[in-house]
Amino acid sequence: MKRITVLATLIVIGAACIAAQQGAQPQTLEIEKVKDNLFMIKNGGGNTGVFVTQNGVVIVDTKNPNYGASILEKIRSVTDKPVTMIINTHTHGDHTGSNAEFPATVDIIAQDNTKANMEKMDAFKGDKAQFLPKRTFKDKMTLLSGADQIDLYYFGPGHTSGDALIVFPALRVMHAGDLFAWKALPIMDRNNGGSGIAYPETLQKAAGAIKNVDSVIPGHSPVMPWSTFVEYGQFMQWAVDTVKQAARDGKTEADAAAAIKTPPDRFKDYTTERAAANVTAIYGEVKK
Ligand SMILES: [Zn+2]
Repeated sequence: MKRITVLATLIVIGAACIAAQQGAQPQTLEIEKVKDNLFMIKNGGGNTGVFVTQNGVVIVDTKNPNYGASILEKIRSVTDKPVTMIINTHTHGDHTGSNAEFPATVDIIAQDNTKANMEKMDAFKGDKAQFLPKRTFKDKMTLLSGADQIDLYYFGPGHTSGDALIVFPALRVMHAGDLFAWKALPIMDRNNGGSGIAYPETLQKAAGAIKNVDSVIPGHSPVMPWSTFVEYGQFMQWAVDTVKQAARDGKTEADAAAAIKTPPDRFKDYTTERAAANVTAIYGEVKK
């Protein structure tokens, strides 16, 4: 009897340990090929882009904290090359969280405003400041050359004040970060300089200026065609215009939210659960 009790206790403790580990690292990462030398790692936060260049691996976004080892394990399943560069699309912890788990020698790049936003995060204070971006850009930056070329673009505020779009010209692929996270109303993070009013304009500037892209890696959903990114700009134009009109008409926030809850037919597969939060953001800007 006693032995059974002890055994049962050990099993319970074992189960608790597994549960605790899962709590620290709840999601299993999956790697998916986008092009021959470009992969996407899903789960654990935002989609991580993995671009295997001649001299090393460039990663776009590092997910939530504690995913560094798992990201590296997934990279190791496709290449032995070292990680040489991290590009952060924007400040949020589910895109920058594991920066500090890579060697301090790795080059880190982001848009100017994203660096400023990251400097405000506890995760990048003190010793951790060495995992802030080492190089930044304002509107456009080109990294590497030839088949390895990467073009970074910034067109204005949207999800935050520093959303970078990362284009791999040789592969005709773009990583959009959370400027285009889902086919859905987005998070408009005004505390980090995001803007509902500017959001559609930013998307449409990008759609007009960026050429020769066929596929887009969104911040949090499967790879989509470029045409969906273009359509997203139109969807956001409809949503923001509808809310601005509601504000001009003196409608309550609840009425404005109801007006964007059910999109017109051409946008019927877009999710609108952030309608109320979007209205609060846009009304806040309109009144300012
Ligand atoms: Zn985000």
